[in-house]
Amino acid sequence: MPKSPTGPEFATPRQRAAALRQLRKAFTAGVIETGDEARRVASLDTCRVAHLPDAVIRPATDAEVAAVLRVANKARIPVTTRGAGSATTGAVTPIRGGWVLDFSGWNDIRIDAVSGYAHVGAGAVNAKIDEAAGKAGWFYPPDPSSKGYSTIGGNIACNAGGLRAAKYGVTRDYVVALEGFLPTGEPVKWGLPLKKYVSGYNLRDLWIGSEGMLGVITRATLKLIPRPEARTTFLAAYKDEAAALRTVREILKARVVPSILEFIDRQTLDCFLRKHEKAGTLGSLPFSVKPGEAAPAMLLMEIDGDKAQVRRQQKPVRELLGGKALWLRQARDEAAAEALWKIRRTCSQAMFQMGDTKLNEDIVVPLESQLPLLKYTLEVKKKTGLATPTFGHAADGNFHVHVMFDWDEAAQREQAKASIELIMRKVVELGGAITGEHGIGLAKSPFLTLQHTEAEIAAMKRIKDALDPNGILNPGKMFEPFDMWLQPRDRAWRFPWDH
Ligand SMILES: Cc1cc2nc3c(=O)[nH]c(=O)nc-3n(C[C@H](O)[C@H](O)[C@H](O)COP(=O)(O)OP(=O)(O)OC[C@H]3O[C@@H](n4cnc5c(N)ncnc54)[C@H](O)[C@@H]3O)c2cc1C
Repeated sequence: MPKSPTGPEFATPRQRAAALRQLRKAFTAGVIETGDEARRVASLDTCRVAHLPDAVIRPATDAEVAAVLRVANKARIPVTTRGAGSATTGAVTPIRGGWVLDFSGWNDIRIDAVSGYAHVGAGAVNAKIDEAAGKAGWFYPPDPSSKGYSTIGGNIACNAGGLRAAKYGVTRDYVVALEGFLPTGEPVKWGLPLKKYVSGYNLRDLWIGSEGMLGVITRATLKLIPRPEARTTFLAAYKDEAAALRTVREILKARVVPSILEFIDRQTLDCFLRKHEKAGTLGSLPFSVKPGEAAPAMLLMEIDGDKAQVRRQQKPVRELLGGKALWLRQARDEAAAEALWKIRRTCSQAMFQMGDTKLNEDIVVPLESQLPLLKYTLEVKKKTGLATPTFGHAADGNFHVHVMFDWDEAAQREQAKASIELIMRKVVELGGAITGEHGIGLAKSPFLTLQHTEAEIAAMKRIKDALDPNGILNPGKMFEPFDMWLQPRDRAWRFPWDH
């Protein structure tokens, strides 16, 4: 067997073909696809580093999942578990080939309205879970911006966060129990759908955020909470980032807990405004702006709760948000709220005016370091000449710092690589985290040693070796520094969220 560059020894193409023939015999309900189109879809995620798998396997039963893992483990074939492929780090790119185990069809959702639980298949889409919960008056709060596409299996594997994290927490806070399989093919249950459970080691929490490297999730029980009765949305504009971020501190100091507090910097807003200017649609925006006018920084804020709570908080929130603002809008109904939200939802795509390629980082810094970090991104912009538009979840210090460049310009690629390195080093220096919600995957693997000591990484590797002795599950990720700049990219592929 050939030795892979850094991982364990994997099967030869002949051995893999023989194992696939063996697997086909065990499959009666599921599907094994080896066609070019299916393999291309499964070859990449939003990071666009692409590597074709041998086969895409869509199991229909637990027995078929077990068969895939048993055969793969014995023959030493890499297996990459896939949800919607919306990861941004290459986490789901089958970089060592082998088989992709696709759970998008496992999308059943059952709400237990008495216990306040959602029992879901790994492929259930985040927004569908909340929609089903909502019909019974319950609420599933974790809401990554990819909620219309991403699956709960992927959300759990990445411990996805979202816009409401500062008030409601992240995916981990809502996982009650998991069912799935060890990489060696044995079924396991981590926890049960019970209000209390402390039996044995808590391997449920070890699987959460393990990026599909320690086990395969087939089902989950999620905690729901009562749905807030009312919400109200505000949008405020500030002359610069400093004024906006000082306002964030004042809001938090006043012990107001926003359900959402999104920050948008001037570079991002400028892209958004120029896009509308070009399209002649500045007049359709929910605020007045003249052509060529300088872009402000913005805060988009929501508060929610019961009607009386929301009513009570409106005045102090208006005073806090409006204190340093150039202007402040409050949505009076759902349509007006949607018009304010549209700015945040569409500003990311508007950045492509500044380059055909976007690096989207998801760093976290202590709240007092938000402004120093923002200032540093502007220094990086000056040094490298590449735009660094930034928006993010300001109440939890989680910023999406972007670097925009043209992929075909070799000099810009070099500068983009340098920009990310500078930003990662600064984040760690400020006491922050190199990732707050997307995970490590391939893209952040070169920076793992910035964040963790040798002993910490060695401990993580020992856990990986103990649970996955043949290293078949999602190999090549996290621990092996990956140079994504040298890899082929599938830049032509359009994802459902590319619009
Ligand atoms: C437009 C856009 C906005 C985004 N916004 C956010 C955001 O606000 N917050 C955020 O946290 N993320 C965000 N993301 C990133 C991404 O959507 C999340 O990481 C999401 O959780 C991935 O889910 P998925 O189903 O697409 O998983 P995939 O991309 O298919 O897989 C991601 C990882 O999970 C593993 N995995 C998937 N299913 C399973 C399973 N059943 N068992 C074990 N491992 C599994 C994979 O092996 C891989 O390592 C965004 C992405 C896009 C494209």
